[in-house]
Amino acid sequence: MTRKKAKPEVGRWGTVEVPPGESREVKLTLSESYFGADSRIPVYVWRGKEPGPTVMVSAAVHGDEINGTGAIRQIITDKPFDLRAGSLVLVPVINRLGFERHSRYLPDRRDLNRCFPGSSGGSLASRLAHVISRELVTRCDYGIDLHTAAVRRTNFPNVRADMDDPKVAALARAFGAELIVHGKGPQGSLRRSACKAGCATLILEAGEVWKVEPTVMEYAIRGVRNCLSSLGMIDDPHEPPAYQIIADKSRWVRASRGGFLQFHVAPGDIVDAGDLIATNTSVTGREYNVIKAPTAGIVLGMTTIPSVAPGDPVCHIAYPNGGTLDKATRGHADAHPQSLHERTRDDLATGFVVTRPDDED
Ligand SMILES: [Zn+2]
Repeated sequence: MTRKKAKPEVGRWGTVEVPPGESREVKLTLSESYFGADSRIPVYVWRGKEPGPTVMVSAAVHGDEINGTGAIRQIITDKPFDLRAGSLVLVPVINRLGFERHSRYLPDRRDLNRCFPGSSGGSLASRLAHVISRELVTRCDYGIDLHTAAVRRTNFPNVRADMDDPKVAALARAFGAELIVHGKGPQGSLRRSACKAGCATLILEAGEVWKVEPTVMEYAIRGVRNCLSSLGMIDDPHEPPAYQIIADKSRWVRASRGGFLQFHVAPGDIVDAGDLIATNTSVTGREYNVIKAPTAGIVLGMTTIPSVAPGDPVCHIAYPNGGTLDKATRGHADAHPQSLHERTRDDLATGFVVTRPDDED
């Protein structure tokens, strides 16, 4: 069992000190390269003058998911808010070995985000997870871990959080995503392990791999700012989302036949049961079948590759708790065209040719 150790201080990193009111880049040694050199990641520690909670914002625990890396870099370079109280631990790249290979995985083909909290005598992945848990997670009271959809898919920004944990639930609500998907997260994930260790952590799932997308980055930064505002660390006002609903479950709708999809929905759309999601045709346009939404929900993810084989994922739909979808429908109707919600929907839709069923009459 884990032995109780003194919590490391956010102001002390080995021989480097970061006093209140100052900020500094420190290097954290995670492992060694194949040449035997230290493999280190930069950690940017930003401290307010007044005491307060410590919040970690991390990205690229899956090495190809770099939208969050762009968002964290922007926070470090632009300082888009004035940190009055507490501390920020900003980690643009957790999984250096994956990041350097543009890969989700480590060189040993393991998924680092299934290896937490790790152990000092385990596999490469397990040892990395152990150092991250010991050096980063234990220093922090809250965590915001930034992810994207897996390769060949995109996600409308959504927060995943354990809404049964009051501290996590409050952070998730404060983040200000329209959609929160409830759950503890997979076994071995950084967020599940961090929550267990007392660092209340949520993840943002937004956009695609291998990209820094403007509105996705803006969405992540707004979320961080909203969380810090609700924790009393900055004085900026909380910026509310267009609406907010919680989904207990989500499921992929899959292709039943091979073919070339013509999409009828885009990420962030609301669908009713039976609505057309895509028409599956031959490459010359001969219709094979249509793919419909099984029940009402919100399109939180889509494939970005229109050619499919039977079983391939087409559309990831979140199913909100009974009746709350009306809130989303009203939120869509009332949203200003220049709101972040609408701009994000517009941006993510540019990756698809979407014909609305109405257009086809
Ligand atoms: Zn991920």
